[in-house]
Amino acid sequence: MSLRNMIDSHTHLHLIPYEGLEEMARQGITRAVSCAVVFMARYAESYFDQYRALQAFHRPLASSAGVEMYTAVGIHPAGIPEDWPRVIEHLGGFLSEEGVVAVGEVGMNQGSQVEKNVLRAQLEVARDYGVPAVVHTPKENKKYITDQTLEIAGQVGIPGSKLIIDHTTLDIIGQINDYGAVPGMTIRDKDLSPADLVENLDSFSNGILNSDYRNISHSNPTGMLDAVEYMMARGVDPSVVSSLARDKAAEVFGIY
Ligand SMILES: [Zn+2]
Repeated sequence: MSLRNMIDSHTHLHLIPYEGLEEMARQGITRAVSCAVVFMARYAESYFDQYRALQAFHRPLASSAGVEMYTAVGIHPAGIPEDWPRVIEHLGGFLSEEGVVAVGEVGMNQGSQVEKNVLRAQLEVARDYGVPAVVHTPKENKKYITDQTLEIAGQVGIPGSKLIIDHTTLDIIGQINDYGAVPGMTIRDKDLSPADLVENLDSFSNGILNSDYRNISHSNPTGMLDAVEYMMARGVDPSVVSSLARDKAAEVFGIY
């Protein structure tokens, strides 16, 4: 592994054990965008407390392990509080803090009306503040939900360069590229495999790699390196590897 200063474009650092943070740094993933998520959230305060903890507690903790953390703030579809409009009202304040670089993790699982309303409101905030949005896509009905997501994004008028459609698979890469959005590529079983990535490299060349560590299933804090190592072993142009593992994410999130 010779690539240094890589960026994990989508993970949840507050869920990673300290040894996992150290392992990321040791293997060259020294920067990461950490997305908010509060499962089963009922109150807006649950998100506000998490945003505060991400910024004031987990950022310095990650830094002590050698990982510079950047924060994304948003409402995850796995936990939409009943008073979600209050989160929207305050999102701009959090986005103005140092180290907060994106709205996320947002998106839809079922495509219900409330999910659509919450997504639209958050994309509007991202548009107004000129920051990227990290948008989740589900395992079920992925193509349909991606269609619905891109339709809302188009109505909001968020530019493709600020729209990351995450957990990209071969099923939806065409839709993402048609919009001109940035494919977020989570390297793990059931999402994108290193082999699929390399066999379709032209389609994924505008993308950004990530590990999306979470502690609710088998997960690896350095999962994105499977793709980096696979590409290097097969002689993929090093500038392409650097773009996917570092440079494109630096440009999208404005972290240099
Ligand atoms: Zn995630």
